[in-house]
Amino acid sequence: MADCIFCQIIDGEIPSRTVYEDEDVLAFLDVNPLARGHTLVIPKAHEAAAADLPGDVRDALFTAVGRLAPAVEAAVGADASTIGMNNGPASGQEVPHGHVHVVPRFEGDGVGPLHALDWPAPELDDDEFDDVQAAISDRA
Ligand code: AMP
Ligand code: ZN
Repeated sequence: MADCIFCQIIDGEIPSRTVYEDEDVLAFLDVNPLARGHTLVIPKAHEAAAADLPGDVRDALFTAVGRLAPAVEAAVGADASTIGMNNGPASGQEVPHGHVHVVPRFEGDGVGPLHALDWPAPELDDDEFDDVQAAISDRA
């Protein structure tokens, strides 16, 4: 996609601090890091959502994430990492080329878990759990 900033990075038209590349995947430092070593792992195929990627590319993407997380952690002396994907505009995805964030985490960094995001968490009764369980499993 000509007007996609991540496709332009893949094509070498925009520079990036690349840390890993294979046939299907590119990983580079986030230009506006949430922590030192914040890395983006992207498929070379332009799709906005994880679900739209061909299965083999999705496999390659998450295989690379699994390989890169310990590399990122070790490189910056992190104790852990948060791995996340803003998957669709309503989730806050700003670049419409799917990408996985690997953000180094440190004991006592005070950031909290993904659960610390300001979710309007619903209280579901058993029937509502049953309904949503069935609705997802029917489609999975
Ligand atoms: P998201 O909100 O999940 O779409 O995140 C997009 C991420 O891309 C942000 O963390 C940006 O800092 C990062 N980003 C945007 N442009 C660039 C760029 N040219 N090189 C590296 N990271 C970028
Ligand atoms: Zn793209």
